[in-house]
Amino acid sequence: MNYEYIQIAALNQYAYCSHRCWRMFCAGEFTDNQYTIEGTALHDRVHTTGDIDKEDTWQIRAIYLKSEKYKLIGKSDLIEVVSGEYYPIEYKRGRKGEWDNDELQVCAQALCLEEMTGQNINIGYIYYAHSHQRQLVEINQELRDSAIATIEAVTNLLETGTMPPPSYSKRCKGCSLYSQCLPKASDKLRNYQEAN
Ligand code: SF4
Repeated sequence: MNYEYIQIAALNQYAYCSHRCWRMFCAGEFTDNQYTIEGTALHDRVHTTGDIDKEDTWQIRAIYLKSEKYKLIGKSDLIEVVSGEYYPIEYKRGRKGEWDNDELQVCAQALCLEEMTGQNINIGYIYYAHSHQRQLVEINQELRDSAIATIEAVTNLLETGTMPPPSYSKRCKGCSLYSQCLPKASDKLRNYQEAN
């Protein structure tokens, strides 16, 4: 598959479910459900273009982040600059997620910001719209390693186009691709084939 940059959102999708990532970024499928519609509406509200100066806090909305080193590109929800220090803020619907894919997305944004600003980015935030709370994300070495490993995995996925098999898990409950994927049926078929 031809691609120049990996979308930061693909890392989030891959960490959530590699099969979902394949369907979205290799097969070009996407189906909205209640959660994605709410998520899109939230991002539309957030992405009112422009900068806002709030005394010592400078807020920049809806700008593209890019890394040549990692071949990443993506639109940020919000970048804040406090006392000259930049950090990314990613908006999510609902409450704090059960999975670590949102932290990974913030880390990928931080990797881009580091390259664009020449600064070390040590923190980021996830803003959860339902609870109106910001969750601190420490951009530590463990998270960086995890983000870089996911970048490598997504690069491999995009280059080979090899489909990771679907597998039913708790994550399938909120997945907008459930009706195309039918993970329980796939699991049964795979188990049958392995047993025979
Ligand atoms: S239904 Fe489950 S296995 Fe299928 S794409 Fe969604 S999360 Fe992945």
